[in-house]
Amino acid sequence: MLQRFESLNELKIRIYLWVVPCIVISLISNTLLQNMNDVYQFNFTINNTLSIWFIISWVFLFKRIFVQFTEYSNLALVSFYHVTTFFDAVRNYMVVDGGALGDFIIWMPIITLFFFLTLGTKRGLYYSIVIFLATFVMGIMYLPVLSSESIDSLGQYYFANLVYIIVLYYAQHVFKTYADLEMFKKHAYYDSLTRIANRLRIDEWLQKKLKAFEDKREVFSIIFFDIDHFKSVNDNYGHKIGDEVLVELAQLIQLRLTNRELFGRWGGEEFIIITSKEGDETVKLAEKLRKIVADHHFKGAGNLTASFGVTYSKPGDSIDSLLNRADKGLYQCKNVGRNQVSYIK
Ligand code: GH3
Ligand code: MG
Ligand code: MG
Repeated sequence: MLQRFESLNELKIRIYLWVVPCIVISLISNTLLQNMNDVYQFNFTINNTLSIWFIISWVFLFKRIFVQFTEYSNLALVSFYHVTTFFDAVRNYMVVDGGALGDFIIWMPIITLFFFLTLGTKRGLYYSIVIFLATFVMGIMYLPVLSSESIDSLGQYYFANLVYIIVLYYAQHVFKTYADLEMFKKHAYYDSLTRIANRLRIDEWLQKKLKAFEDKREVFSIIFFDIDHFKSVNDNYGHKIGDEVLVELAQLIQLRLTNRELFGRWGGEEFIIITSKEGDETVKLAEKLRKIVADHHFKGAGNLTASFGVTYSKPGDSIDSLLNRADKGLYQCKNVGRNQVSYIK
């Protein structure tokens, strides 16, 4: 989820972009449902003013301008609207007619969501409780003059409100825990320099591939490659340029692979590709990549080459036996002049 949204703030804005129209719809439907007599004139004016403001605030959020101002002014208005409408409903519907709270409860989840969204988990919880207590005190004040039907309705409202607060608090808590876990996984699995998969991730991929091979005979191959004379890049141009070469190479290779190939940095200047292609096809891919590297002009380091060891999964293979074969291929290349592909069957 986090990968889709650049930040938690962006995710928040996207939720607002859905929530704000819901509030506008609720305000407009509320206005349409009301009788236009004197008692409700106040509500009518508030509803329309708020609707206009929320439409403007939606535009601000959509354009990502005045975001914090919009967030807090919306929070203040939603709270004000919520408390005054509640007060109005108790005093005018319940005390006068002896009826129930009506459609008031329907919008509670959105209002509570708004509190949590703007203020975050903890402050959202405290704020929701404060607003809940404000409405609770209002209800208690009028309790002696309310009918039993009204008291019943108020009780339901308070109960529902508490349930929403608890559910939203836990939902936010769980969401944050998962988001943290995703973030942790992302960092644990990626190489901090090249931003491609690291050894831990490659190990997991290989384990999965070996299991699928054992269970379903799904053959896979690996290409293990290493930059030739990389030490002299560091010696001649410095470690920083060496790092940049690694990043550039990772991007260069990544661009040439499809999403059926898995690619990562094994360590140092050694990289690995796991593919479902079989032997000869994998050699062709390795040969193509070898040529791409050899033809590429690296910024700051000029022309470089790499050596490639290729092998495929065999019955009884472990990660070690598989990598040993690929490594053997790699060292064959190094022994016969580098910039080559060696296939170990
Ligand atoms: P060969 O052609 O035999 O592979 O020679 P080589 O010089 O590439 O091989 P060797 O294994 O002797 O040296 C690898 C060098 O890679 C040594 C180390 O300093 C460098 N290296 C490993 N990791 C990094 C890194 O993250 N950044 C930089 N700049 N250099 C690194
Ligand atoms: Mg090496
Ligand atoms: Mg090397």
